[in-house]
Amino acid sequence: MSGWLPELLETMEKRMVADGYSSPDVQGALQSIKKEAYWSALYRQVLSCQKCPFGRDRSASTQRVPGTGNRESPLMLVGEGPGFDEDRIGVPFTGISGALLTLALHKLGLTRQSIYITNVLKCRPANNRTPDLEEVQICSGFLAAELKLVKPRAILCLGKVAVRYFFPEVKSIKQIRGQWLEYGGIPVMPTYHPAYILRQTGADLALAKRQWWSDLVQAYRRAYQDDGLAENRSGNNSQEQ
Ligand code: SF4
Repeated sequence: MSGWLPELLETMEKRMVADGYSSPDVQGALQSIKKEAYWSALYRQVLSCQKCPFGRDRSASTQRVPGTGNRESPLMLVGEGPGFDEDRIGVPFTGISGALLTLALHKLGLTRQSIYITNVLKCRPANNRTPDLEEVQICSGFLAAELKLVKPRAILCLGKVAVRYFFPEVKSIKQIRGQWLEYGGIPVMPTYHPAYILRQTGADLALAKRQWWSDLVQAYRRAYQDDGLAENRSGNNSQEQ
C-alpha cells in the first residue's frame, strides 16, 4: 500500500484543487482517508498474521483479536492478550475481567465504545500462559501501529505483560503502579490487570480495589482534563467503585 497510496492521494488532491476546492480542505479530507487506509491495512495484517506460534496453535487461538473502540480516543487501555472468552468472541476484555473493567468504565462515565481497548498480544497463548519478552516483541509492531494511529493523550496499562511492553526493566507491577511514567511522550499509568483484582479476597481485595480505582481515575483525568470533561462526564467518578 505504501507505494500506490501516496500516488492515489496526490492524484485526488490535484483533481479536487483543480475543481476549485481549497487545498487545506482537500488535504484534511485526504488525511482522513489515509488514516482509514492505514487502519484497514493494519486489521488485515493482524487478522492474517502467522508470525509466531501463538497464532498457529489452533487449539488455543481460534482467531486474532485486534483492538476495538474509538480510534480517536484520548484514552487507550492496553492489556496482556486474549483469554478463552476473548478468543471465542474476538474482542479484547470481554470475559469476566472485561466485565469488571467495563463496570469500572461505566462508573467513570465512559463506555467501551468511547475509548480504545487493545492488548499487547493479539492471539491467546495456550493455557493462558504468560508470554515472555521475546514473544511479546514479535507481536509488538501491531500495538506500535495502533499507538501511532490513535495518538492517545494517556495510556492505562493493565497488568505486568502490558507494563513490560512499555518498560521492559520493570520487574513487579507493585513497584510502579499508580505512578505516572512516559512512553514516546505519552503519559502511561501502570495498574493491575482486572484478573488480579478478581483473584483477591478479604482485606487484599479491598486494598487492590482502592488502588485500582485510584489509578483508573488518574488515567481518566489525564486523558480528558484538556476538554474540561473529566469533572463533568460523570457525577460519581471520584467515588470508589
Ligand atoms: S500473537 Fe501476534 S505475532 Fe503471534 S501470530 Fe498472533 S498476531 Fe501474529
